[in-house]
Amino acid sequence: MSRVYNFSAGPAVLPEEVLREAADEMLDYKGTGMSVMEMSHRSKAYDTIIKEAEADLRELMNIPDNYKVLFLQGGASQQFAMIPMNLMKNKVADYIITGQWAKKAYQEACLYGKANKIASSEDKTFSYIPDCSDLPISEDADYVYICENNTIYGTKYKELPNTKGKILVSDVSSCFLSEPVDVTKYGVIYGGVQKNIGPAGVVIVIIREDLITDDVLPGTPTMLKYKTHADAGSLYNTPPAYGIYICGKVFKWLKKMGGLSVMKERNEKKAKILYDFLDQSKLFKGTVEKKDRSLMNVPFVTGSEELDAKFVKEAKEAGLENLKGHRTVGGMRASIYNAMPIEGVEALVAFMKKFEEENL
Ligand SMILES: *Cc1c(COP(=O)(O)O)cnc(C)c1O
Repeated sequence: MSRVYNFSAGPAVLPEEVLREAADEMLDYKGTGMSVMEMSHRSKAYDTIIKEAEADLRELMNIPDNYKVLFLQGGASQQFAMIPMNLMKNKVADYIITGQWAKKAYQEACLYGKANKIASSEDKTFSYIPDCSDLPISEDADYVYICENNTIYGTKYKELPNTKGKILVSDVSSCFLSEPVDVTKYGVIYGGVQKNIGPAGVVIVIIREDLITDDVLPGTPTMLKYKTHADAGSLYNTPPAYGIYICGKVFKWLKKMGGLSVMKERNEKKAKILYDFLDQSKLFKGTVEKKDRSLMNVPFVTGSEELDAKFVKEAKEAGLENLKGHRTVGGMRASIYNAMPIEGVEALVAFMKKFEEENL
């Protein structure tokens, strides 16, 4: 068996330890004689799995008691609709557009009410985070929406926007559990788990209790009401049971690693290796403003499409996979999520050095 260094933006690398454990438990989960995949979601064994997953996540993120943790389906994209359906009481919301995911969320919200673009970095191909200290927040906005880490462009908010008292809703799909967060600053934090936590399909929504009500937009399907899932402890219907089980294992791995402060340090160290190299390279260069650089997704280019393609191809041959940039922006992108070991980043930089020498 040989594993590659997988720099995919998502679905992405998972801790090898977690995969091995899951493999060991595949045929017989803890003496139940069956796989978690084959198990009733109403069984005692599964009840323990989902409750422990929630408890571990609460501990990792220090989630206050007045927030609910929901394990839902439909990926992050389902939330683009679920958020306005549940939160747009005045049918007004403010969106900050820092990339394609924020834009998609904005476009979806336009189907349900008046969504305002209050800031955007589209003028410079989303290569920076706009100044959000004094934005024209709408008087009657039900919430202010951001995408906190921009997976495709490689930018991250280093400071949250001043929402002037409005509820902040944040898509953290690609920076989930990469560093500590102050949950109390948000009304809703959510993310698809396939970037930094587990298998695609599961989306975790952390939502302040007072935002969970029956007062939703008319016609909102039962399955798309937060209240349905909050009242049922994420077991209204069959949840993505196996996916949640893997997320639970990753939470335990993160606790064992030392928690989110330790992950932050480790992620900063990894990102620094790559950014330091980019900053002195004569061939490669980073594509975003330094102050807004993401710790998780690092886009870079050579300036020549041909050389970019050659790099991606030769890197793959060297066991460094999925370095091609997003289909809409080209170039390269290295996603270095929690589970990417420091050795992976070192191997990438060593390969880039060699490539630079050979191709400059
Ligand atoms: C990947 C991604 C999404 C979309 O996730 P799906 O689960 O495919 O719907 C949304 N937002 C961000 C920030 C992402 O990285």
